Amino acid sequence: MPKIDYLRISLIDKCNFRCQYCMPEGAELNYLLQQELLTNQEIVSLVQNVFMPLGFTKLRLTGGEPLLRPGLVDLVEELAHFPAIEDIALTTNAFFLEKLAKPLYDAGLKRINISLDSLIPETFDRITGNRGKSRWQQTWRGILTAHEVGFDPLKLNVVVIPGLNDTEVLELAALSIERHWHIRFIEFMPIGNSQLFGDKAWIDSADIRAAIRQKWGLEESNIKGNGPADVFKIPNSKGTVGFISQMSECFCDRCNRVRLSADGWLRPCLLNETGQIDLKTALRNGVDPAELQNQIEKLLLLKPEINFKDRDSGTDGTYTRTMSQIGG
Ligand code: SAM
Repeated sequence: MPKIDYLRISLIDKCNFRCQYCMPEGAELNYLLQQELLTNQEIVSLVQNVFMPLGFTKLRLTGGEPLLRPGLVDLVEELAHFPAIEDIALTTNAFFLEKLAKPLYDAGLKRINISLDSLIPETFDRITGNRGKSRWQQTWRGILTAHEVGFDPLKLNVVVIPGLNDTEVLELAALSIERHWHIRFIEFMPIGNSQLFGDKAWIDSADIRAAIRQKWGLEESNIKGNGPADVFKIPNSKGTVGFISQMSECFCDRCNRVRLSADGWLRPCLLNETGQIDLKTALRNGVDPAELQNQIEKLLLLKPEINFKDRDSGTDGTYTRTMSQIGG
């Protein structure tokens, strides 16, 4: 069992994209009200007084779309300045990154993961649920700005969906050749849009690896990340290609993370709703941070039992929250 020292914090449940795999088409989610969101001060207080004393050293800010959160740059600045926090990263769709990349970098953010599921504007728009002007160009400019500002590593997340973007795997992998970019292929999970999952299912990482290997060859990479990705390199490329294979391979035994939702629920496993703790209510009721540490410590001991190990059996429709709501 690895040390659980990685907290993923969802800053907001809203998103300006409607990615098909994340939110069922046409479904209206019940968004949180402003007063239900953890404030910046509450997030900082939980990190400083509860999670840091428990040995957490890595943070990821996510959502929903974290760039929609007012006060994001100030929050990054406060969190990045804690010496105990060794790593602070952000996951975004990059649509608003052109303006925000530099302020975020200057505030102390050094790592960024960007979702980019297609290089073809029409496919991109179909996946992200766009009905008006294409949003591909602005997203691409956001990615280039993040690169120019100095984000390194810069990772691009691709959820591969049969019949939607699986024909682009080689073009996306090729982005790792000329630049120090890391492309991460993610197997589609049965959370968020179970109907699409039922229709399409996922593509095994092994198949994507085989296609890349056939085209260029593939070397094992000695780069080890925080996370569950198996990392490889196209020979002589500057970046890497990685595979997050949560469907074809269970990596629960390597799981070092817990998630905090935008409304303050601590969740020990992405695919299991058991054991969640309502930290926001506790905090607002003045519960002592030492007591919260106690509760969380107990939960972390139970995490191996809670971790969901039957991913390939698919969803039984009991997930009450999508990735955008939990914090992907
Ligand atoms: N809005 C940000 C973004 O687009 O990256 C952050 C939130 S998004 C929920 C975080 C990640 O979750 C994205 O990389 C997305 O691809 C992934 N994701 C969402 N639903 C998924 C699913 N059903 N299967 C696999 N990955 C999923």
